[in-house]
Amino acid sequence: MAISILIYLKSLFLVWFWLETSPYLFRVFSRFALVSRLQQQGTLDCLILYAILCYFIETESVNQWIHLIFPPFLILDLLIKDRSVKLHVFFWLEILVLGMLVSFGLNIGFITNPDGGLYFLEQYAYLLSFFWLLFLVSLLNLCNFLDGLLLGIVSVICHTFLFAIFTQPSLNEGAIPFALTLCPACFLFWVFTMLGEKKGLASPVLSSTIAILVGALSVVATSKKVALLSLGMTMGLFIVPILFFAFLIFYTHIQYKFGSKNLADKPQALWRFTTTSVNVFVVLASLCLNFILVCAMIMENLLWFVALCIFACIMFLKLAKRIFIKKRIRYRDIFFTSQDHISLFGIRIFRGHRNRAVEMMRTILASPFTAVHHVVTPDALCLFRATQEPSFKAILQKAYIAIPDGAGVLWTSIFLKERPILERIPGVEFVHDLLNLSHTSGHKVFLLGAREDVLEAAIQKLYERHPQMKLAGHRNGYFSEAEEEDIISQINQSGAEILLVAMGVPRQEQFIDRNRHLLKVKIVMGIGGSLDVLSGRLRRCPKVIQDYGFEWLYRTIREPWRISRVYALPMYIVTVLKEKLSLGDAQEKEDP
Ligand code: UDP
Repeated sequence: MAISILIYLKSLFLVWFWLETSPYLFRVFSRFALVSRLQQQGTLDCLILYAILCYFIETESVNQWIHLIFPPFLILDLLIKDRSVKLHVFFWLEILVLGMLVSFGLNIGFITNPDGGLYFLEQYAYLLSFFWLLFLVSLLNLCNFLDGLLLGIVSVICHTFLFAIFTQPSLNEGAIPFALTLCPACFLFWVFTMLGEKKGLASPVLSSTIAILVGALSVVATSKKVALLSLGMTMGLFIVPILFFAFLIFYTHIQYKFGSKNLADKPQALWRFTTTSVNVFVVLASLCLNFILVCAMIMENLLWFVALCIFACIMFLKLAKRIFIKKRIRYRDIFFTSQDHISLFGIRIFRGHRNRAVEMMRTILASPFTAVHHVVTPDALCLFRATQEPSFKAILQKAYIAIPDGAGVLWTSIFLKERPILERIPGVEFVHDLLNLSHTSGHKVFLLGAREDVLEAAIQKLYERHPQMKLAGHRNGYFSEAEEEDIISQINQSGAEILLVAMGVPRQEQFIDRNRHLLKVKIVMGIGGSLDVLSGRLRRCPKVIQDYGFEWLYRTIREPWRISRVYALPMYIVTVLKEKLSLGDAQEKEDP
């Protein structure tokens, strides 16, 4: 035990010494371009970790694996300068290194049955070990999107492994110095990235090698039970933050909605979202999960276990609140009605009330000029698409007005902006507003899109609701690009001033953008699946569900083929979080 503590302290000292002295050393050697590049890329930190591990580990087999893990990454890092190429090659290199590790004997040979017996994996050992390592390494690498996050999480996981090593009966002797060196190294790397004093610690070369080392440690050092639990925990590490941040966005919205009847008095929490605060939060979350894991390992008494878990969760929530809530402000301090738009992900979104938007449409229709005004109705998925596809984003940016359809956009604005969107304007209802304008002022409307039967049913329903509506013409939405010219001239000849295109996102936006210069209408709006709803073919989602942002769930249940779109939602939450972080980091710099 005393020797173990000594190894821990010695490696802690060595890593600390290296991190403290290396910036000075590099200043001296910065004339050599290669040295400064390697420092920026974290290669030299990787090298020192390699040296320290080799120094402490005497067991032959573990030492062999260490020699296998580092050199390929270091050599590749020397050879390839371009970061994007490197990331791509790293993935294959990781697979290769993992394959070699497994074939050289880094295997999960057996699993403990729940009844205490052993289940030997035999010929499946290679396959299972390979996929286990690949899964762990890929998950950990995902964390690298935020500087230092991987190091913080790995540090917590390693400490749990260390605990597991000392509590389990059988021991791989190489595991102790391995874990004892990796633990302080990751912890110090994490602290140094948080302090931002040293560059390169979040580099892919360091992250990849550390992720593989942790994978190896999970096989060498721990019982399979701990390894399996740690797998669950690692998965939890990804689900917990996404759920937590989704909850935070939702919670901010609820506060905004019910905080006070008077809008100017509504409280708004200003979140302290910076790279550091999110790092500290995630490390806390993983500490909490690990604490529960350790309790599960040692606690015989279920009651004590539950009590400790509840204690851990309460402490975690209390600390999380301290980390994130900067202060609460009242809307009257930030409320400016004069500002009609806000920018979300670089797209100008209308933030005012619905009647103000209708007023803008009325002005356009009344004006004698015939410029085309494109109205888009983005929801959360649409915004996400814009962050992924520059050409689609450019179309949204060119639009005259972007009306926030969908609670997701409203919540995003509440979460990201001090002056959020005031109300959600569902696209279907805005269609009725435009048709009302048509029937009160005599402006003609052209409907383009949907299947012929749906379109006809929708027109019939629309006439029932707006008997004075002036329909200039209609056309179903199934045509080839070659037919577009004819359709455009049909629309122009009909004398329509409002064109509603119901061909789904992004088809309708692309169609409008392609033909904008040929169109002679004043307002053109993409209305997605609105005609399906207006025709009665699809039932509109109940308002309560819409208001609480679960329209996507309702629509997915009704139209299961939409499931592929739902996958984008967690990615959208991550995108919102990234945006919040960049805003927070920028603010922190301005106002230290
Ligand atoms: N649609 C169309 N032409 C096409 C493909 C689709 O007119 O080539 C119509 C389809 O009939 C449906 C609508 O576009 O009425 C699809 O709407 P969706 O619900 O996919 O759009 P969202 O509301 O998600 O934008």
